[in-house]
Amino acid sequence: MLAALLARPVTEDIPGEQPDDTTPLFRGSVQLRHIDAGSCNGCEVEIAQAFAPHGDLLRFGVRLVASPRHADGVLVTGVVTKNMAAPLLKTLDAVPRPRRVVACGDCAIDGGIFAAAYGVAGPVGALTPVDTEIPGCPPAPSTIIAALRGLSGR
Ligand code: SF4
Repeated sequence: MLAALLARPVTEDIPGEQPDDTTPLFRGSVQLRHIDAGSCNGCEVEIAQAFAPHGDLLRFGVRLVASPRHADGVLVTGVVTKNMAAPLLKTLDAVPRPRRVVACGDCAIDGGIFAAAYGVAGPVGALTPVDTEIPGCPPAPSTIIAALRGLSGR
């Protein structure tokens, strides 16, 4: 029992299931684990607006979930700090495949205004391939909604 609790995630890659970029990966709904890798919190404010009643991303089948093992992908905000690089990779490792990685905000995409800061490991793309980029500092809720609707296909 204890060994099972301490074991690595049991999810495995499914041979042949990793689609190319033209294949819709999720149809109708997508669950995302949000990771703040070093954000100033500006992106989080806009994400909250995208899920608030005015934007209501839930109606398009997009949900934020608490566990990466329940997720179809990750939504990363902020430049990746040195302290958050390992937790980000561990979280990614726990997401079942196939999965999607979304970089939300200029910091996550290319480092943004914090790119040259001393505690920065790099943008998300320096640690893992990114499938979807949501540009802006911060991105407008409408931009976030449009990008995540593209994932859910609704
Ligand atoms: S992109 Fe802008 S709002 Fe988002 S974390 Fe970076 S500085 Fe903050």
